[in-house]
Amino acid sequence: MDFRLTDEQAALRNSVRDFAREVVAPVIAEHYEQHTFPYEVIRQMGKMGLFGLPFGEEHGGMGGDYFALCLALEEIARVDSSVAITLEAAVSLGAMPVYRFGTEEQKATWLPKLLSGEALAGFGLTEPGTGSDAAGTLTRAVLDGDQWVINGSKAFITNSGTDITAMVTVTAVTGTNPDGSKELSTIIVPTGTPGFTVAPGYSKVGWTASDTHELTFDDCRVPAANLLGARGRGFAQFLRILDEGRIAIAALAVGLAQGCVDESIKYAKERHAFGRPIGANQAIQFKIADMELKAHTARLAYYDAAARMLAGEPFKRQAAIAKLHASTIAVDNAREATQIHGGYGFMNEYPVARFWRDSKILEIGEGTSEVQRMIIARDLGL
Ligand SMILES: Cc1cc2nc3c(=O)[nH]c(=O)nc-3n(C[C@H](O)[C@H](O)[C@H](O)COP(=O)(O)OP(=O)(O)OC[C@H]3O[C@@H](n4cnc5c(N)ncnc54)[C@H](O)[C@@H]3O)c2cc1C
Repeated sequence: MDFRLTDEQAALRNSVRDFAREVVAPVIAEHYEQHTFPYEVIRQMGKMGLFGLPFGEEHGGMGGDYFALCLALEEIARVDSSVAITLEAAVSLGAMPVYRFGTEEQKATWLPKLLSGEALAGFGLTEPGTGSDAAGTLTRAVLDGDQWVINGSKAFITNSGTDITAMVTVTAVTGTNPDGSKELSTIIVPTGTPGFTVAPGYSKVGWTASDTHELTFDDCRVPAANLLGARGRGFAQFLRILDEGRIAIAALAVGLAQGCVDESIKYAKERHAFGRPIGANQAIQFKIADMELKAHTARLAYYDAAARMLAGEPFKRQAAIAKLHASTIAVDNAREATQIHGGYGFMNEYPVARFWRDSKILEIGEGTSEVQRMIIARDLGL
């Protein structure tokens, strides 16, 4: 058992760390405040190959693995979570379904532009009336000759409405299974298809420089060939995508938690009260020690889940544990970092204010904390 990074992994982590500090940090507060999407940052991440990290070179990827993606996400989230979730959703929710389940033709059509960061794709699972209970999907797709006709709507879909969004994969009911349950399938809907409408962006508490929209499909027709994988495999597909995605969200949460430690150490040394730096007080030191403890143990949890996944072993429970633990401690660390910053922690110009606003969604997106507990309990045979 060895949790140390290889030279190649450490080099990737260091180059993304430098990028986050030198390119993301100087511009992101402005995007966050103005609720604008950071196209130039995304373009540069594309040039670095970050969108292609876990994919084979035959499709234009970097030939790395899912752990490499997690390392990159952690380093970006250490500085900003809007950029990190844009990368996470683009890779693990956008491109990965095509990579895992697509035909050779679908891969050839979509992967080169998605893996270069030239284009983004959304993952349309959640609906206005159902999230955790994805089997409650109401969006329907009916085969009419050689076309699917889609009707319904999706809620909170990341990367679905940017200027460079190329398509969205949509989970839809395509029939009834022999046991009476809904037959779910996944269909690729290119941006600009008539009947596919993207609502204006949501007004969000956090992740304000990321892109999130409600989508509607009104007699939206796409070729039958846009079915992703086999008909009726939609349920199994999104379970696989979400299992993996939980490791990535855990890495992102660890990054935010570590960013809180970074900012708190800096501030505790700078800020004076009662004639000395606030960091000279053991009460502050212990807070920061506890924050470091939490970030470190959550990191080990996601390393473990990623290692099991890459070894081809079962990893569902470990991914849920990593996501549950990392999101919980990210909220803890954001709260404590804000406390250490006093009144300035409540001011948007300080990164910890962004961390605080960005932390809560980590306990909700890609499966709420309750859903993670359900997964862990089920895996324990309960
Ligand atoms: C900014 C943002 C980006 C997102 N991006 C995407 C995206 O790209 N693609 C996508 O498909 N979705 C996306 N989502 C949706 C997200 O995954 C869902 O919001 C999440 O899964 C929870 O679903 P819900 O909001 O419908 O909550 P609900 O399922 O309605 O849950 C409400 C509450 O009830 C609890 N609950 C539900 N069932 C149970 C139960 N059986 N036992 C105990 N408690 C329960 C939940 O844990 C939660 O606390 C995004 C959401 C946000 C806010």
